[in-house]
Amino acid sequence: MVKQVQGILKDDGGRRIITAAFCCNGHNLISDDNPKIDGLSTIHLRVHSASAGDVDIYLSPIQGDGRVKGGEDIPRDELLGITCPVCGTSFEVVAPCYCRHGMFVAIYLKQDCRYRDAVVVCDSWGCKHSFIKLESRIILSSS
Ligand SMILES: [Zn+2]
Ligand SMILES: [Zn+2]
Repeated sequence: MVKQVQGILKDDGGRRIITAAFCCNGHNLISDDNPKIDGLSTIHLRVHSASAGDVDIYLSPIQGDGRVKGGEDIPRDELLGITCPVCGTSFEVVAPCYCRHGMFVAIYLKQDCRYRDAVVVCDSWGCKHSFIKLESRIILSSS
């Protein structure tokens, strides 16, 4: 695998793999203790659901891969409060999602907590829209 920038690896198939992701208090959300998807450590988030309460979910670290572990009790399309599982801080809302229902939330790839390097996900449960921002350039999964 080729290291692209801090927090991102590009594998032999051209997939971008997120290897580090942080809240603004510097907690790394990717740990070897997290559940694995395709053998890769997932991104741990805690979401607040109005109907299911506080739920730990684990996102696939592969760009454009909508797989997630956990959250089976959350109704589809519910809007979630996405927080750090360690300190409970919320992530920055950066734009409305293309689904016209949820909002895009930025999870930083570096500990400096800046939106120039981030993985961006929708806060509507079941919405698969996401993108990565690297050095201020938006990288879509289709490219
Ligand atoms: Zn934190
Ligand atoms: Zn969405």
